[in-house]
Amino acid sequence: MARMKTSKGIMPHLDIFDELLDHVQQDWEGLEVDFAIGEDDEFPEDRDFAYTEEEGGEICIVMAPKLATQPMERIRAVLMHEFGHAIDLSYDKEEIEETYYDDDREGEEDADLILPKTPERRADAIAEAAFGQRIFYDSENVETTIEEDGVHPRPKKLGL
Ligand SMILES: [Zn+2]
Repeated sequence: MARMKTSKGIMPHLDIFDELLDHVQQDWEGLEVDFAIGEDDEFPEDRDFAYTEEEGGEICIVMAPKLATQPMERIRAVLMHEFGHAIDLSYDKEEIEETYYDDDREGEEDADLILPKTPERRADAIAEAAFGQRIFYDSENVETTIEEDGVHPRPKKLGL
């Protein structure tokens, strides 16, 4: 896997990565998330576009080469989900729930972000709180930001 610097304007997935990283760093000062472009054979299924790994305290989002040519709404939703994992790996449950407590709805029992117990649905819940945008799963079982194209929450068959 080759690590590289982002170059604005050339690769849409790298620009979206930068934008999402800037966004989460507003809530999590000091959060470092690297990215890498993986090898094709790390993404055997059609629906595999990215994964997040932690090594020695360093978080890295590894993207499939094929992510670059996907529609923007797919790239964005796939990377939002991975940033959900990155935050989940970096902070404890209480910190995350407190950070995304919705105080506009104070007094309502369900105003708090209650994190799901399973990692994949937790990544979506964190990402949705972090970016203020819902993640859906399209007919190819890939994340999308377009409601009409997908279902929510993440289908059980994909692993929760
Ligand atoms: Zn995931």
